[in-house]
Amino acid sequence: MAVRRLEGFDVVIAGGGPCGCVLAKDLSKAGKKVILIEKGGSSLKGIGTMRGMLNGEHMARAKFPNIWQTTLEGQNLVLGTGIGGGSYLYAGIAGMPQFEAFDDVGIDLRPYLEDAKNETWVSRTPDEFLGPTTKRMLEVTNAIGLPFEPAHRHINFEKCEYGCKTSAFGCKRGAKWMGYYAANEAAEHGAKLQIHTDVRNVIVENGTAVGVNARGVKDGQDYEIRGNTVVCTAGGLGSAGILTKSGIRGAGLRLFGDPSFGSMGLLPEGGLKSHFYEHGTSISYMDDENGCLFFTNVTWPRVFWSGYQLMGHGIGGALRTYRDFPRMISISNKIHDEGVGRVTWSGRVSKTVTPKDEDKMNYCRYINEKILIAMGCDPETIHHGGFSHVKGGLTFGHPGGSCPMGVVVDKNLETEIKNCFVCDISSLPGAPSRPPVLTLVTLTKWFVPRLLERLT
Ligand SMILES: Cc1cc2nc3c(=O)[nH]c(=O)nc-3n(C[C@H](O)[C@H](O)[C@H](O)COP(=O)(O)OP(=O)(O)OC[C@H]3O[C@@H](n4cnc5c(N)ncnc54)[C@H](O)[C@@H]3O)c2cc1C
Repeated sequence: MAVRRLEGFDVVIAGGGPCGCVLAKDLSKAGKKVILIEKGGSSLKGIGTMRGMLNGEHMARAKFPNIWQTTLEGQNLVLGTGIGGGSYLYAGIAGMPQFEAFDDVGIDLRPYLEDAKNETWVSRTPDEFLGPTTKRMLEVTNAIGLPFEPAHRHINFEKCEYGCKTSAFGCKRGAKWMGYYAANEAAEHGAKLQIHTDVRNVIVENGTAVGVNARGVKDGQDYEIRGNTVVCTAGGLGSAGILTKSGIRGAGLRLFGDPSFGSMGLLPEGGLKSHFYEHGTSISYMDDENGCLFFTNVTWPRVFWSGYQLMGHGIGGALRTYRDFPRMISISNKIHDEGVGRVTWSGRVSKTVTPKDEDKMNYCRYINEKILIAMGCDPETIHHGGFSHVKGGLTFGHPGGSCPMGVVVDKNLETEIKNCFVCDISSLPGAPSRPPVLTLVTLTKWFVPRLLERLT
């Protein structure tokens, strides 16, 4: 099959996650000729249901019987795919950027935060979305000196429905911001959306990027896509893969994962009902001093939650979860991990949880237990998931930092190949230890005017 040539672009963007979509939108609005290349598709098929996640439409699926992809050590990796990337599956929690981490590399993100908040529909969870159990948790945590507060979310609460349990499968009501919407706006401004196309490597001539080689995922068609500038926005694993195959040394040799885990307990009989019946992830506490995040759990439906337990704890765990669901409350956590990990040539991940990481996880468990007991849970019913040495016990929801600033890209986000940039979670200097989308879109807003200046 002859190689198909697409050319004449100002900017070739590789990867359609939140960063790629917002970049495509802002550049095309500024009159630039843009192509956004995405390995997955572009649809709202199955949105808001488990189907979109499980059939691989919105989640990078593993081979049966696993639903998640796994690391070489057997832990879970959840990765979105398709135009929108991780924002299809994210819980929509908005974590305020940690500016200091960027100050250290000479980037001041502060002036760009408001624009990013508006772009991604950030607002604080209104009081009427906090159910009785969550309100009680807010009281008990504050009383023991943990400043939990209503979470900021990437949600337009005017369109949202109290008690809805589908955020993490996408949102049918259009209440949750997704990169998908920004990409559609980009297309309205003339950007070309090239879907089902896997970017292989950057084409380099005289030390300068002039495009990418790519292959059609469905038809095997080879492409040569040419433009003045290439920006890799293919996420924590994707961008490292593209750069490795373009000869960039050091790409993929670090990887943070923001390990996700949590603790559960059972409320006493006849009292408050489980917060799974309420609105999900509605209160949170970002403990920056200890690099730990605490939040009430993503409110998955009973059947899905039981199925999830089936993978980690077998049939007994699934049945127990189904039975206990009405009384089950949980705290979920993420930690700022040390970033020890790598992306292999074949795109697999190896991720080590260091003793320092484990120490932070144990601290979270200690705090979780305190909260669950203060909520009235019998300590005998408390269960802590996600032990790093148990295969499949941990989930890495935010793999990134594989092409970090100061190592693989400079403070302009440019690689050693001229006109080849990386602007996504892989370029972050360290684990955000918080939901990263707001930080990533703020970084994109910082990057756009600088790139436009380079293009003129
Ligand atoms: C279940 C889940 C819940 C989450 N919850 C939250 C939350 O509540 N709040 C929050 O802020 N964050 C959350 N996150 C994390 C967040 O979604 C990601 O960190 C974020 O989407 C990363 O953005 P990105 O643009 O760097 O890359 P991604 O979103 O990973 O997008 C990269 C895109 O590039 C494509 N791609 C990869 N390789 C190639 C290639 N070679 N060629 C072409 N295309 C390629 C991929 O298919 C993908 O669409 C969650 C993530 C998951 C999975």
